[in-house]
Amino acid sequence: MEADKTLPLKDGATRLVFGDGNPEAEILFIGEGPGYWEDQKGLPFVGNAGALLNQLLINIGMKRGDVYITNVIHFRAPDNRDPVPEEIESFKPYLNEIIKIIDPKLIITLGRFSMGKFLGSVTITGIHGREKLVEWEGRRVWVLPMYHPAAALRNGEIKRRLMADFDRIPEVLEKARKEVGIVEKAVEEKKENAEQMALV
Ligand code: URA
Repeated sequence: MEADKTLPLKDGATRLVFGDGNPEAEILFIGEGPGYWEDQKGLPFVGNAGALLNQLLINIGMKRGDVYITNVIHFRAPDNRDPVPEEIESFKPYLNEIIKIIDPKLIITLGRFSMGKFLGSVTITGIHGREKLVEWEGRRVWVLPMYHPAAALRNGEIKRRLMADFDRIPEVLEKARKEVGIVEKAVEEKKENAEQMALV
């Protein structure tokens, strides 16, 4: 990725911000893109929004090391402006690869750009905190859309909603674990049936 000369935003950025956390995590958070501190340190969510994210995780008995955190774009956009569609498209193969490597049971989208990747044109206000089972690249994954922590820092009502949505994470994760278990069991049974048929 660092060697990819075709990636946009590279010239204006200090460093690549790939991801952080536990690669074995069951939960993958996807934000928008690096801000000032992320660009300085090369890690996602290490500024003010990151401090809130850390606190929200602590509130539900988790820590950064229990989850994996990445973004839709991996170089900082000038003045933290929103990423444009071509930029999102350029980073897409890398984000897709990260998702496949982490292979999470639950994806939590932070803000509208990562939400749009899985849920199309919906509004955060309408669907935040409501999990959806999504077909993505031939796999089924639960997606739980949330407001971006930076929006919560600007608006008390959004912060309250974000905190309430975080409270749902343990319950949604449990549901996602069961779903994965059901799919794995069905695959195993299909395999056993096929093996038995081959013996007849
Ligand atoms: N906002 C994001 O969307 N991502 C970061 O890594 C930091 C702030």
